[in-house]
Amino acid sequence: MLGARTGSMMWVMGAMLALSACTAAVHDGGSSTGGYAAPAAHPVTPAVPAGTEPFQALVNDAHARFAGVTEGKNADYIPILATIPSELYGVAIATRDGHVYTAGDVDYRFSIQSVSKPFTAALVMQQYGGPEIIAEKIGVEPTGLPFNSKLALEIYKARSVNPLVNAGAIAAVSLVKAKNEKERWQHVLGNLEGFAGEKLPMLEKVYDSEYTTAFGNRGIANLLFNWERLYSEPEEALRVYTRECSVGVNTVDLALMGATLANGGVNPKTGKRMLDESSVPELLAIMMTAGFYDESGRWSFDAGLPAKTGVGGGIVAVVPGRFAIAAFSPRLNEAGNSVRAQKAIRYIAGKLGVGLFGPNGD
Ligand code: GLN
Repeated sequence: MLGARTGSMMWVMGAMLALSACTAAVHDGGSSTGGYAAPAAHPVTPAVPAGTEPFQALVNDAHARFAGVTEGKNADYIPILATIPSELYGVAIATRDGHVYTAGDVDYRFSIQSVSKPFTAALVMQQYGGPEIIAEKIGVEPTGLPFNSKLALEIYKARSVNPLVNAGAIAAVSLVKAKNEKERWQHVLGNLEGFAGEKLPMLEKVYDSEYTTAFGNRGIANLLFNWERLYSEPEEALRVYTRECSVGVNTVDLALMGATLANGGVNPKTGKRMLDESSVPELLAIMMTAGFYDESGRWSFDAGLPAKTGVGGGIVAVVPGRFAIAAFSPRLNEAGNSVRAQKAIRYIAGKLGVGLFGPNGD
C-alpha cells in the first residue's frame, strides 16, 4: 500500500507528464494525438487600394486562367438550357462610376434565371417603403437547402423562407403591386431593365421550355397560397416568375445590375435610382447568406462577398460602394452554380482583397 505522500507525489508527476504531452501536442500541431490538425499556411494578400485596381488585367487573367475548366454540366431540367453551348465564358467588372471591363463572350445573351431574384426583391422593397416587407411577408433566413426545395417550406415556420430561393422569389413576384398580370410583368421587366440600364429581351423559347415543365414550381406556388404566403393568384405568380427568369441578359448587363447596388441603388450608366440607399444593406445581406443556396456558407467563406447565381450560368457579386464582378459560363456544379463563373469572380476578389471580412488571399 502506498503512503499518502508517495501517492500525491505520483499524482503530481502524472499531472506534469500529462501537461508536457499536452504542450508537445500544441507545438507539433497535434498530429501525434490524432486530434487538432494545424491549418495549412494561409498567406494574406494585402487589399489593393481603391482607385488603383488593375481591372482590365484582372478580367483578362481570370478569363484565361479558367478557360480550360470543363467541370460541371449545363442545367437540363429546363430542357432548352442543355442546348446552350457549354464553352461560352465571359467575365466583366462594372464600377460604381460606370466603367466596364470585359473579357470573353460578354455579349452573348443568356437567361437571367435566379440572378433576377434580388432585383425583384428590391422592387418590392421600393414599392412598400423599405426592406421590412420582405422579412415580414417572405422571410430572410437561408435554408441550407437547394433552390427548389419543398422540404424547406415544411421545416421553416416562415414557409417561403427568403426571396432568393424559388418559393420566396415566386412570393416576391406575387407581392409586386399591380392591377393585373400584364402590369405585374411590366413592373418586373421594367425594374430589371432599370437595373441593367437598357431594354432587355424576353427569351420566349426559354419561357416555353420552363413553363411547360414547371410542375415543381407550380406545386410550390400552390403550397404557398394554401399557407397564405402567396399574395396573388398562384398561376399568375408562376407565369410572371417564369417570365422574369427567361429575360435575356449578357455578362455586362449583370455587371451593371450589380454596380447599381454597389452604387447605393443608383444605376451608374443612367443615373436612375432603382433602390433607396437605406435598403441596400438589407438586400446585400440576403445575397450574402442565401445567394448561393446551400453553398452560401462556402461562398462566404471563400469570397466574403454578397452574390447571386442563376442556372443559366450567370453570377454577379457586389463589392459595396465600389464595383461588381459578373461572369457567365453554362456548366454548373451540383448546387446549380456556374463552376467557371464562381472561380473567375473568386479569383478577382481574392487578388483585390475585397472580401467584406478582410482579404481572403489568392
Ligand atoms: N427558373 C429557375 C427555376 O425556377 C431558376 C432557378 C435558378 O436559377 N437557380 O427553377
